[in-house]
Amino acid sequence: MSGFTSALVSMLRKTLFFGALLLAPYVPLHAQSFPTDDPIIKRIWALGMDSTHVYELSQALFDSIGPRLQGGDELRAGNDWLLSKYKSWGIEAHNEQYGTWRGWRRGYSHIDLISPRVRSLEGQMVGYSPGTGKKDLTATTIILPRFADSTEFVKWLPTARGKFILVSAPQPTCRPREDWATNATPESRARMDSLRTAINAEWGGRNVRGTGYSLALGGGELGKRLEEGGVAGLITSRPKDGWGTIEVFETYNTRAPTVALSCEDYGLVFRLTENKQNPQVRMNLDADLLGERPVFNTIAEIKGTEKPNEYVMLSAHFDSWDGSSGATDNGTGTITMLEAMRILKQVYPHPKRTILVGHWSGEEEGEVGSKAFTEDHPEVLKGLQALFNQDNGTGRIVRMGGAGLPNAAVHIQQWLSKVPTVFQEQVKFNGPGFPAGGGSDDFSFGCNGLPAFGLGALNWDYGNYTWHTNRDTYDKIAFDDLKSNATLTAMLAYLASEDPTMITRERVDLAAEAARMAAQNPAATANGRFRAPTTWPACVKAPRTTNPRLK
Ligand SMILES: [Zn+2]
Repeated sequence: MSGFTSALVSMLRKTLFFGALLLAPYVPLHAQSFPTDDPIIKRIWALGMDSTHVYELSQALFDSIGPRLQGGDELRAGNDWLLSKYKSWGIEAHNEQYGTWRGWRRGYSHIDLISPRVRSLEGQMVGYSPGTGKKDLTATTIILPRFADSTEFVKWLPTARGKFILVSAPQPTCRPREDWATNATPESRARMDSLRTAINAEWGGRNVRGTGYSLALGGGELGKRLEEGGVAGLITSRPKDGWGTIEVFETYNTRAPTVALSCEDYGLVFRLTENKQNPQVRMNLDADLLGERPVFNTIAEIKGTEKPNEYVMLSAHFDSWDGSSGATDNGTGTITMLEAMRILKQVYPHPKRTILVGHWSGEEEGEVGSKAFTEDHPEVLKGLQALFNQDNGTGRIVRMGGAGLPNAAVHIQQWLSKVPTVFQEQVKFNGPGFPAGGGSDDFSFGCNGLPAFGLGALNWDYGNYTWHTNRDTYDKIAFDDLKSNATLTAMLAYLASEDPTMITRERVDLAAEAARMAAQNPAATANGRFRAPTTWPACVKAPRTTNPRLK
């Protein structure tokens, strides 16, 4: 966003603000009812809702620094940017190294179809891909055949030498399912559904087309085997069920580049190849593999006055995949916690308990940073009153549970009874519930039986459009929801810090809780979307150097 645009947006915001006052003089801008007279809650509201910093923080982070791939320079620059923000607000912060990870520099990706006609293809390298040394690499294409077994695959490999290999499923349509549901005849839709299922089954799984190797999250062991066999590069595509979105993950190749194309540009090259129309593709890719480099969590703290050895922790992973800007995964979780700290420092600078924030890295590699933190900080685990983690997109917080601790449920309900009515109506509290099962950083704490709560956000088409895609950018942020999340999180941190008693650690009876939740939500149980854990999740040790995920 240019300086001009940002000035315009800020002017518009002001105009809208005064406009609202003029047009609706009897309705305060944020008509709000507070259940108590607590002046801190009211000040948190005022700061969070009426003088928010979430726009400026988001613009700087997502537009200027961009995505934050584990081990890369942008992540490092982002860690330093967080420090500079905290410093400017008078908050103690540091970058804490917990290990090393492979580093990579993403330069440009130019991918063109040059024969039988010219078209610049929508695509880019997957993360950590080797480049072409900024030179043109032109080759013909070949489709990965179906093999009876890996011996047949190895025999075929010489045929693929020097070619770009198409290794992903050719989608019979790039229209989302919703579009088919709206427009197709029932017969045509059913035909398309079964065609898609068959094609994805043919190309999916861990034994891609019978080679005995998996593509894992982009290249995997099959990518490495093809590289060894002398291919020029791999062309992949992982489309989502949405217009124009693909997932962009990673490869472990070091010589043969791996690119991800849009659903239809992949389809185009595939059909040309299949129909023997002699496609030629030219790649010119700029990238550097940088080897193992130090990786950090950014930790900030507002020291407790009465109980400095008890902790309330804000938590959100800071790293991202790098197909776009990592705005909603997990930029918005990051901004929520950052802005909550800014507010807390102003209205609650001397908390009872120590307030910490963890901006984790390595979450996308398996919650590496937060796991390492739990291993390196037994004192925080011991004194943890509550941890609030947010990591499922830009939406407003609508769900909370007690992380499988019955006593947590009692405390959370008390806290929620003190937040403004709008938040009470918005957040559905699910009772004691279950510990986090993995997939975000609350798991690293929950597996230790700790009060680590996920702040569940409203969906905003997260799965189909922004989660790990090429479309996770600034424009997707729901700013009203984001500022309300920062405000609510600051309130929860304040209330957890002031709470006269600590949450105790008895665990829920998992079977009894499963029955209670099932009774509460029979529909989710019936459709199989709700699956209760039968044992408490076990902690996993944090890898302190690159832990390849090839399978
Ligand atoms: Zn995430």
